Amino acid sequence: MPDANAPLASIRNFIDGQFVDGSGGKAFEKRSPLDNRVTASVAEASRADVDRAVASARSALKGPWPRLSGADRADILLKVADEMTRRHADFVEAEIADTGMPRVVADPMCGRGAANFRVFADVVKTVPTEFFETFTPDGRGAMNYGLRRPVGVVAVVCPWNAPLLLMTWKVAPALACGATVVVKPSEETPRTAALLGEVMNAAGVPKGVYNVVHGFGPNSTGEFLTTHQDVDAITFTGETRTGEAIMKAAAVGARPVSLEMGGKNPAVVFADADLDSAIEGTMRSAFSNTGQVCLGTERVYVERPLFGAFVAALKAAAESLRIGPPDDPASRLGPLISLEHKRKVLSYYAKAAEAGATLVTGGGVPDMPGALADGAWVQPTIWTGLPDDAAVCTEEIFGPCCHIFPFDSEEEAIERANATNYGLSAAVWTRDLARAHRMAAEIEAGVVWVNSWFLRDLRTAFGGAKHSGIGREGGVHSLEFYTELKNVCVKL
Ligand code: NAD
Repeated sequence: MPDANAPLASIRNFIDGQFVDGSGGKAFEKRSPLDNRVTASVAEASRADVDRAVASARSALKGPWPRLSGADRADILLKVADEMTRRHADFVEAEIADTGMPRVVADPMCGRGAANFRVFADVVKTVPTEFFETFTPDGRGAMNYGLRRPVGVVAVVCPWNAPLLLMTWKVAPALACGATVVVKPSEETPRTAALLGEVMNAAGVPKGVYNVVHGFGPNSTGEFLTTHQDVDAITFTGETRTGEAIMKAAAVGARPVSLEMGGKNPAVVFADADLDSAIEGTMRSAFSNTGQVCLGTERVYVERPLFGAFVAALKAAAESLRIGPPDDPASRLGPLISLEHKRKVLSYYAKAAEAGATLVTGGGVPDMPGALADGAWVQPTIWTGLPDDAAVCTEEIFGPCCHIFPFDSEEEAIERANATNYGLSAAVWTRDLARAHRMAAEIEAGVVWVNSWFLRDLRTAFGGAKHSGIGREGGVHSLEFYTELKNVCVKL
């Protein structure tokens, strides 16, 4: 249980290596999703603070950071990773305080923060450059080689659903490339980005390389940062309509964007699938982190002979998930991020009922004891019986819920899986490997898992197709975004 008597935490901006309040004296409240209690006061960065943060990132570009060898920067990033590991418990506490997620969920997620720095330290140490030998009419030829230079000051705009993991997924490669960053964490999850400032100082990252400004999106810190003309590139994770606004902001000054956005991800389960694995994987993909995972499954297509058994097994799996507070080791599902998000998810639960869905399980709010009754809790929910074009089956809900549909042929499954504006990820469950490869090639998504879900190798390309994103990050693909590749042509 959260400690109702704990003092209010004070979360500050991190600019030029120092923790500072908002110069406008503004602060906003951060509430715990567990019981809606105010747990922190967060300094809101004004336009002047954003100016200072961007100026500090610009000035760090004139210092040693971009001029260090990749290997030397990698050494410092490994120190960041080590310091994060040493302070792992602090990061887990901070993440839990912001999100209310069970400790068993927060613990590995925070571990991924340090892993991001380790992976990109390796990538930058080992990445090759390109070289082309060119024929010239005089027979002497020319040599072409590529030089990578940091893209400059990068704005990193983050969501709340996996705060540390998603933020470091962008900060680590940006820093590895010698760029400098100004991070705008979600207003719902300010703590871990601020804590990373302490780590950066302890690891010896020069002042101004990593900056954090807190606040909201439109008419606030997010907009001040993304419209700032001294920002060279913007990397964003969040909702598609926010990404559209950011893309408009980036158009002024023709600045590059990397956008990782929403999804309405399908799982396709064939009758020959290993049912236990398909249920375990679909249970995780639909319900883990209380359904607040961009890669999560909200549409499940099951081949008709397996449909009844699959629905029954997923219902049993969902009902076995213990909803509870972070420190109960049996807890598997925490609350949603906020009461506002709870209202949104429950509005879809109501829409499903109005549209005549068959409610397999859930559909409401669990009974929570004491103060937890005021928190953002909802039940894991499964529906069947709705048409493909129902709002619940086409719009991203971002809650612990999915709709299960029967299908009769591979072609039909592909067509229905692709009948969405989104294209982030998909999971295919079958023992027929030839079919698995056909499906993987045909499904319109940036990431396709076969007989698994969320099995991530951080060296691989990651990003979304269609309305789910622009660009790819991960491994060397991140270098494409965080550097300018310059060709040098030398006539011999
Ligand atoms: P959001 O778009 O509401 O907010 C994301 C960030 O953008 C926040 O920091 C917010 O303050 C900021 N922001 C909002 N409006 C802005 C504006 N006009 N200008 C500048 N900044 C602005 O997203 P969210 O609700 O925090 O996160 C959930 C969404 O993120 C879901 O749609 C989910 O699918 C998506 N997501 C995608 C991925 C991926 O890798 N594709 C990963 C995680 C989450």
